[in-house]
Amino acid sequence: MGYVDLHIHTSASDGVMTPSEIVRYAKSKGLQAIAITDHDTIDGVSEGLEEGKKIGLEVIPAIEVSVEYHHGSMHLLGYFIDIHHPLLNEKLKELQKARAERNPKMIEKLNQLGIPITYEEVLKVSGGGQVGRPHFAQVLLEKHYVGTFQEAFERYLKKGAPAYVDKFRFTPKEAIKFITEANGVAVLGHPNTLGLNGPNDLEQLLINLIQEGLRGIEVYYPEHSSAETAQYKSLAERYGLVITGGTDYHGIDKNGVDLGIGKGEMRLPYSMVEALKEVRNSCKDSGGRSG
Ligand SMILES: [Zn+2]
Ligand SMILES: [Zn+2]
Repeated sequence: MGYVDLHIHTSASDGVMTPSEIVRYAKSKGLQAIAITDHDTIDGVSEGLEEGKKIGLEVIPAIEVSVEYHHGSMHLLGYFIDIHHPLLNEKLKELQKARAERNPKMIEKLNQLGIPITYEEVLKVSGGGQVGRPHFAQVLLEKHYVGTFQEAFERYLKKGAPAYVDKFRFTPKEAIKFITEANGVAVLGHPNTLGLNGPNDLEQLLINLIQEGLRGIEVYYPEHSSAETAQYKSLAERYGLVITGGTDYHGIDKNGVDLGIGKGEMRLPYSMVEALKEVRNSCKDSGGRSG
């Protein structure tokens, strides 16, 4: 049995490699299975599945959803989702629409503040990729409304500043629901970014999320300390959660993290995939029995 990497981004979100390239790279690394977990999109999954079939690597259809959370950031992973499921697709469309409205809203706010920049100018500096606040800052700088990039954020663009518009996010409950309804297994990603104070806070959060349908927790992650890893593992065991792990590889050398091995220490066994499949099938069975 080989090794796996269950947290990977492609160019369908903010990764550098295309889904096919990632699959081929994983194969060259000797992995047995990978999950494509792009941010808020499943657009890269079909291509990854096809390439996997072609070259003999198991590709797990998945997603990573950023959800609303008052502390730090909460990311929910959904494994083995049915990418053709109507509710899933409807929800992702809703998300895209809200995101698409965000940038024009920020333009509107800047215009109201007496700064006549246009969305076309922002699009131009973005070079055709995902448009974000750094591109707004670039235009403000180029047109001398601010003296530095930082000033653009301080005066206009940072959270709470006059041109800032909140990003639309689903609640954890909503995301767990559409992942589960699409026959996926919902897993809490990298708990160390939640900004919690200690084990008790995380335990309480897990109890709540499990009630909503959470089935697993990402225990192995390059940025988890060994103490955190141990803590997450024992919580997983206490609450019967599936243990998953992955590198969050984006196709570039970031903090020395590479596909499949993280900073060199990771060896995630294929049994993780089997555990996910078991949970998925048990959900399907019980769903079937209850009609
Ligand atoms: Zn994440
Ligand atoms: Zn990620």
